[in-house]
Amino acid sequence: ESFKNSGLREVLLEKLIKCNYTTPTPIQKYSIPIINSGRDLIASAQTGSGKTAAFVLPIVNILINQPSDLICDRNYCEPQCVILAPTRELAIQIRDVVYKLTSGTCIKQSILYGGTATSHQRNQLNNGVHIIVATLGRIVDFIDRGIISFRSLRFFVLDEADRMLDMGFKTEIEYILNHATMIDNNRQTIMFSATLADEIQILAKSYLKPNYIFVA
Ligand code: AMP
Repeated sequence: ESFKNSGLREVLLEKLIKCNYTTPTPIQKYSIPIINSGRDLIASAQTGSGKTAAFVLPIVNILINQPSDLICDRNYCEPQCVILAPTRELAIQIRDVVYKLTSGTCIKQSILYGGTATSHQRNQLNNGVHIIVATLGRIVDFIDRGIISFRSLRFFVLDEADRMLDMGFKTEIEYILNHATMIDNNRQTIMFSATLADEIQILAKSYLKPNYIFVA
């Protein structure tokens, strides 16, 4: 089995060969067609399962296929995809995968995390980005300051959602999701979590479209 029939564009198939990804992992086999079909998804996925490419590949594929204009100005940006991670380390790992799979394409990306000055991260948003990978505190701050708007958001991903809850980020998650929902509820929402405890499923029921798909 290969990525050949996964519906991914040639430019991505070539990148996969370069990365030495020859065979889709199980989570990739399930997730790619579901995300391609436009459905919301909650999936149980462990670290090391290939979960990052499982959501990055179909999102990048859709953004390349159906590009929409980037909206931004000197101090304002409307990303088309936001990926939330519980820690800076995970955000950097996700960004590295996004970078590998988008380099040389028209897709622009940026990373936001706390503990550093905001100026560099703000500057990166100036020219517009399609994909933002972010930790929770920093993106809440940027939303509050009006630097980021979700008006053009097409994809919202929560990675390691259980870890976010364990770390006490429930308020931030709900704040960000409520904010996105208030502005526009047309986005596709994707959640990955190692465990699927009640709390995680309640979150999915509250914020995913009613016909979401559950992959345990
Ligand atoms: P992740 O679970 O996303 O952290 O990925 C774990 C590791 O698997 C990373 O080093 C990826 O580069 C690698 N990986 C992801 N998908 C594949 C694939 N289809 N074939 C081979 N390696 C992969």
